[in-house]
Amino acid sequence: MKEIEILIIGGGPAGLCAASAAANLGATVLVLERDGEPGGQLVKQTHKFFGSKKQYAGDRGYQIGNLLIEECKKNPNIEVWTDTTALGVYEDGVVTAERQGKHLKIEPKKIIVATGASEKMIAFPNNDLPGIYGAGAVQTLMNVHGIVPGQRVLMIGAGNIGLIVSYQLMQAGVEIAAIIEASPTIGGYLVHASKIRRAGVPILTSHTIVEAYGQESVEGAIICRLDENWQQIPGTEQDLNVDVICLAVGLSPLTELCFQADCQLKYIAELSGHVPIRNEYLETTRTDLYVAGDVSGVEEASSAMVEGRLAGISAAYSLGYGAGVAPQLQAEALAELSELRSGPAGQKTVKGIMKLMDKGEAVC
Ligand SMILES: Cc1cc2nc3c(=O)[nH]c(=O)nc-3n(C[C@H](O)[C@H](O)[C@H](O)COP(=O)(O)OP(=O)(O)OC[C@H]3O[C@@H](n4cnc5c(N)ncnc54)[C@H](O)[C@@H]3O)c2cc1C
Repeated sequence: MKEIEILIIGGGPAGLCAASAAANLGATVLVLERDGEPGGQLVKQTHKFFGSKKQYAGDRGYQIGNLLIEECKKNPNIEVWTDTTALGVYEDGVVTAERQGKHLKIEPKKIIVATGASEKMIAFPNNDLPGIYGAGAVQTLMNVHGIVPGQRVLMIGAGNIGLIVSYQLMQAGVEIAAIIEASPTIGGYLVHASKIRRAGVPILTSHTIVEAYGQESVEGAIICRLDENWQQIPGTEQDLNVDVICLAVGLSPLTELCFQADCQLKYIAELSGHVPIRNEYLETTRTDLYVAGDVSGVEEASSAMVEGRLAGISAAYSLGYGAGVAPQLQAEALAELSELRSGPAGQKTVKGIMKLMDKGEAVC
């Protein structure tokens, strides 16, 4: 049995920031990461990030990931176990994990779940044909492994992920037949949409996929227009000759471990699904278990990093570390989160958090 003060499950931006924050206050930390490398979604993000300098705006996602990994490596209080998947959190506080075929037991004093999110799928005929991918999988294939998924792509979803991955496909020499979006407006930043439109790619709002077709793999897709009630309009079908259909239709918080640990969860559409109920310092209804990042509500890497820091400080403080400084650090992180959520995109999150906490006022 491995004993540790703070166990962090997930080595993405939230988990790595939680680790540094807790270890900087003096706590000993173990990070479990199921992939071969920590960094989470950042390892495949080759584009420059927007936002504030405090959250590394202007740097590329993978560069931010490298900075966070380096910070953890330099800190003697932090151990990172890669290729290690957390399997369960039990009533007695023991966490089990699988590492290189071995079953391990860990006994932490505090747990921070920072497992991120999984990609959503949509239902349409033949959606199990080879050639149908999630946008995150396409990013991993191209930007981590250097492999293009095909020659001609239909992108479903015009949020930031759909737009960014489309542009990266174009940079890799892949043709985008169209980006379709069910809602009447483009969800992503217009700066991304404009770049794509200038390159001649149609972005068709109020459109959906009717079906994919192909013998052994995708050979094409039928799309059509939607009316104001989101119903397909007969006679508006178009047949697109594509060998890849890429779904960028949202993410769901990866909360299985929280369910299993008996945390109370609530369905909040604005936070993208079932999320654990937690207090302002990100401690859930299960005492000593915190959440941070996309698992507590899908947002962006910037807020995941700040939430990670807040959870790390709070977990360490509850163990008696940082008595003189932790309250001030917590207040700073809360102020940063409020600032990040003050724009139009952040308002949705604020509304979701208000619903989650059953409050008239948001506590970020
Ligand atoms: C395709 C795509 C493009 C995006 N583009 C942008 C962008 O341009 N700008 C932006 O700000 N945000 C972007 N995001 C969102 C951003 O990446 C996430 O909000 C951010 O990475 C969330 O951080 P996280 O640490 O919560 O989760 P993640 O980065 O997903 O990290 C979670 C980590 O936990 C690990 N894990 C999960 N379960 C277990 C387990 N049981 N045991 C051990 N490890 C586990 C995972 O392997 C992963 O490494 C994008 C997301 C996607 C999917």
